[in-house]
Amino acid sequence: MKSVRFDVLTIFPRMIDFYISESIIKRAIERGIIEVGVTNIRDFAVDKHLTVDDYPFGGGPGMVMRIEPLYRALTHVKGRQKKHTILLSPEGSVLTQAKAVELSQIKDGIVLISGRYEGVDERISHSIDEEISIGDFILTGGELPALVIIDAVARLLPGVLGDERSNVEESFTGGLLDYPHFTRPAEFMGMRVPEVLMSGNHKEILKWQRQQSLKRTMLKKPELIDETKLTEDDKEIIEQLKEEV
Ligand code: SAM
Repeated sequence: MKSVRFDVLTIFPRMIDFYISESIIKRAIERGIIEVGVTNIRDFAVDKHLTVDDYPFGGGPGMVMRIEPLYRALTHVKGRQKKHTILLSPEGSVLTQAKAVELSQIKDGIVLISGRYEGVDERISHSIDEEISIGDFILTGGELPALVIIDAVARLLPGVLGDERSNVEESFTGGLLDYPHFTRPAEFMGMRVPEVLMSGNHKEILKWQRQQSLKRTMLKKPELIDETKLTEDDKEIIEQLKEEV
């Protein structure tokens, strides 16, 4: 299978290198499931001082990322290929699990542009496919959002997680939140792990996990519950939970 290639354009390449050289992402790279290219935008600067920012036209606070180094870096990374180009921006549509699934199906490679300062010269909008935000708050730069996307997408690719079931059972995937997890010891400071999980009765365990997923979703994110996707058993469980609540 062809690996999925991410290219991050940044003026702080080491921030990306640091994260991708640990844990699951590191292993995904070693196994050839993903490739992560990191390009320093400064290497494409057009003046002898290697500047990547300048004062905003019209005044105002802060600096703006210049278009020429970024455009040159982007052209270099894309070559003749049609790579899906994402600008990380608080103005973009907010990343969801569904979006991560969509991105995981892109075969031609994904370019992630990390902004800094007050943002990127607006003319970059002609060279991108979409803007993605990781939430309605402002970060200092697009490096963390780029890593968030790489992480969320990579763990969906076959062979990245130790156990493929992890994805199937995770929050959001089935439209519900995950059920609670426990490990040893069976009792901690008087708090016991639910007996059913230690019963060895697989059918009862599955039933309990489904109940818990429904309960958590109802209590924490009721907006996720899509009535059309519920089984008759689910509906019964929800009715019982409503009475309990
Ligand atoms: N002046 C911009 C505004 O008010 O929308 C904020 C710029 S921010 C300080 C610098 C860069 O960080 C942005 O260009 C973007 O790449 C990145 N960034 C900040 N918050 C983000 C978020 N929530 N999601 C994605 N990228 C973000």
